[in-house]
Amino acid sequence: MAHTLPARRVGMFGGAFDPPHWAHRALAETALRQLGLDVLHILPTGHAWHKSRVLSSAEDRVAMCELAFGDLPKVQLDEREIHREGPSYTADTLRELQREYPQAQLFLVLGADQLLAFRNWVRWQEVLDLATLAVANRATNIGADAPLDQATETDLSGVDLPFEPLHMPLKNISATAVRARVGRHTRSQDALDVLVPEPVARYISQHHLYQPPT
Ligand code: ATP
Repeated sequence: MAHTLPARRVGMFGGAFDPPHWAHRALAETALRQLGLDVLHILPTGHAWHKSRVLSSAEDRVAMCELAFGDLPKVQLDEREIHREGPSYTADTLRELQREYPQAQLFLVLGADQLLAFRNWVRWQEVLDLATLAVANRATNIGADAPLDQATETDLSGVDLPFEPLHMPLKNISATAVRARVGRHTRSQDALDVLVPEPVARYISQHHLYQPPT
């Protein structure tokens, strides 16, 4: 009888995903390919301790993650942080994954902005002990009005932390820019296709997400 081998290279990719966009998807695809992952857990955050903005409902963010990542082989949408009581810390999630995959090497997938803020994370040393950081570069200017076609790489040469660079073309997209664009356009779906996969654009429009208060 054939036995499934235990996963040996396990990735974790967390985010608010409010909404998930093309750069998130590119990051997941790059991590799977470049790191040769057996599985990549995508974890929408519950109460993100470092985000002050009120997030869209977990139900909407999970549904959009399903639409954005669901067709990628080896991706597992993982809702544990959403169901966790209180604030959610990456160190706790990595500990759980370590228990679930005792033989595996764990990778934490993140963008350059998060690497630069990494020493502010709760129990960041523990995170480093548990996982290899795998980092995609990100444009220096990532605000709501950052031009899509003018991206300058973030300089990571001074970062005094071990990490493995992920190689993917810079995509100057942020969830902030997506939300701002929806707020500005009444017929937003067309304009959104360059920022998010088409099913996500449709979901945003059908569920009236990110509309300015009337
Ligand atoms: P917001 O604009 O609301 O802060 P975001 O676009 O940064 O959101 P998150 O869900 O907070 O999206 O990001 C999840 C992870 O994806 C983080 O590690 C972040 O660094 C990474 N990431 C997001 N956008 C990009 C991008 N354009 N290039 C590389 N990494 C990215």
